[in-house]
Amino acid sequence: MSEPTVFTRILQGEIPGEILAQTERVFVIRDIHPRAPIHLLVIPKTEQYRDVVALAEGDPSLLAEMVAVARDVAAEHSDGDFRLVFNTGARAGQSVFHVHAHVLAGGLEEETVG
Ligand code: ADP
Repeated sequence: MSEPTVFTRILQGEIPGEILAQTERVFVIRDIHPRAPIHLLVIPKTEQYRDVVALAEGDPSLLAEMVAVARDVAAEHSDGDFRLVFNTGARAGQSVFHVHAHVLAGGLEEETVG
């Protein structure tokens, strides 16, 4: 068995971290190093999927639930508009291999992708 991920440890209360919202299968925390005025992480409670590609292949309805939860927390914490980022693979900046969506919101109008 490998070690639980940092997100599982937050979910289980072993590491401090406020759970801002949750459903049966998904929870939301604030990113500890925010890179936007609002920077939240939407995370499946299972750590079975390492990235969004594995999740989309293994449980597309869970991926859809993450998107719906992202929509809801972006509306609650900002103006409803948001950017959803899935870093996929170490060379793309992924550091935690427990799939999570970065929800970035608030004052992003000046930025574009690429
Ligand atoms: P990166 O670290 O390059 O952003 P990921 O896409 O894997 O790569 O994102 C992991 C995210 O988890 C990071 O944005 C990091 O700030 C966040 N993070 C790590 N530890 C914690 C924690 N204890 N509480 C909240 N967020 C955390």
